[in-house]
Amino acid sequence: MTERINRQWLLARRPVGMVSPADFEFKQETIPALTDGQYLVRNIYLSLDPTMRGWMEDRESYMPPVSLGEVMRCSAVGQVVESRNPAFAEGEFVSGLFGMQEYAVAGQGFTHGARIPDGTPLSWPLGVAGLTGMTAYFGLLELGKPVQGETVLVSGAAGATGSIAAQIAKLEGCRVIGIAGGPEKCSLLTDEYGLDGAIDYKTEDVEQRIKELCPRGVDVFFDNVGGKILEAALANLATGARIVLCGGISGYSDEVAQPGPRNLMNLVLQRGRMEGFIIIDYVARFPEAVKMLTEWVRAGKILHHEDIQEGIENAPETFLRLFRGQNIGKQLLKVGEATESRALSSNGPPAAR
Ligand code: NDP
Repeated sequence: MTERINRQWLLARRPVGMVSPADFEFKQETIPALTDGQYLVRNIYLSLDPTMRGWMEDRESYMPPVSLGEVMRCSAVGQVVESRNPAFAEGEFVSGLFGMQEYAVAGQGFTHGARIPDGTPLSWPLGVAGLTGMTAYFGLLELGKPVQGETVLVSGAAGATGSIAAQIAKLEGCRVIGIAGGPEKCSLLTDEYGLDGAIDYKTEDVEQRIKELCPRGVDVFFDNVGGKILEAALANLATGARIVLCGGISGYSDEVAQPGPRNLMNLVLQRGRMEGFIIIDYVARFPEAVKMLTEWVRAGKILHHEDIQEGIENAPETFLRLFRGQNIGKQLLKVGEATESRALSSNGPPAAR
């Protein structure tokens, strides 16, 4: 093998409050020779996800923390450029936890990887037909259990997960209201995703607007944000409401955890239920979700936006876009090219509604 240089981002220190680019360290290293069972991936897209903020902290979660000095963990898709693993041949496209770097030595543990089926645009396993889309699918359908005619409220609705959850709720025949930051994102919700209403949490009184747009109350709340937005939804529940706790990004950068919602008693009064979940619990059913999501996207029933930045040197700044609300749809970073032509990404055809 010719000597290859890998450019990578390591976790340099634990963030305090909002993540800073100084929490990461840029490093170049010569890629070591592979041993049996390993394969070398040239990353093409990195996936930047809010959950990475939790992995940077020194606390046990559904995955162990990233160690100081370790390559920052993130999902990626790439192409196998060398292999000593019989299951992965040179030239194949794969997805896995390949990290914030240009090349990954894969094949073991978290970097086991999975082959991407022919014909699947390379970005999809990171977004609409990957963990993001599946989070929306299982969270909404299994926990939210929306029924035709019910009112579904989604926070973070212009984001990768929220936009898919909101559109699945529309496909289920629900009235769907989305909450997002800013007029551009709110227009996207109504004009492109076909939602029945949008609330700009940055300029509007969220509790009051939910009351106006959901006069019979909220039957299902799919929450990506937590904090004050969760409190505003709790104030507007219909009898028998289900709150799906998918995420709480408004609190991920808090140095001191905020007190919980002040109006939890509304769950009692409205006979409601609030439940959290982690997508990896549904791993046995991933094929079912990928099949449905792929069909919906190909049929134009679900639209998905991808926000693709470029260059490995921009990885920390691209990650920060999530917490500044700069991303529209799935946040990706393109760090390499495929050696053969392959549909790289797609924002999907216009909605056929
Ligand atoms: P998004 O594409 O939704 O990007 C994050 C968005 O969050 C931003 O675009 C921004 O949108 C919004 N945001 C950021 N800060 C704040 C804030 N302080 N208050 C309100 N909104 C804020 O990311 P993902 O789709 O990847 O993730 C969405 C959520 O789903 C996260 O909470 C994540 O942790 C969770 N998640 C949970 C999983 C599970 O298994 N339970 C799996 C995957 C994701 P805006 O401009 O509208 O503010």
